Amino acid sequence: MREIGLKIQPPAEKCDDPNCPWHGYLKLHGRYFEGVIVSDKGKKTVVVERQHYHYLKKYERYELRRSRIHAHNPECIDAKVGDRVLIAESRPISKTKSFVVVAVTKRAEEV
Ligand SMILES: [Zn+2]
Repeated sequence: MREIGLKIQPPAEKCDDPNCPWHGYLKLHGRYFEGVIVSDKGKKTVVVERQHYHYLKKYERYELRRSRIHAHNPECIDAKVGDRVLIAESRPISKTKSFVVVAVTKRAEEV
C-alpha cells in the first residue's frame, strides 16, 4: 500500500489497477473535491456531481451551482451511483478523466 498524501483511510480491498493511487503508479496533485456519483456506467469511470454555492454580489445572495467531473474508479474502491466520494486530481488518465476516486465517504443506502 502506498502513501498518497491525504489523511484518509485506505480501501479494504486490493487491486492491480496501474491507475490506482493506492496500489498502482498514479500520483496525486492539485485539487480535491467531495461529490456524489450520478453515473457508474463507464468502465472504471464514474461521473461525480459537486454542488457549491456561488455568491452574487448584486443580490447579496448565494446561488447553487453544480458541476460534473469524470473520475477514475479503481477496482478496490468500486464506487456506485449514490455514493458520496472524495476525488483527487491526477495526471490525465483519458481524454475526459483527470481525477480519481480515492475514498467513499458515505455509501448509498442499500435498497
Ligand atoms: Zn487499488
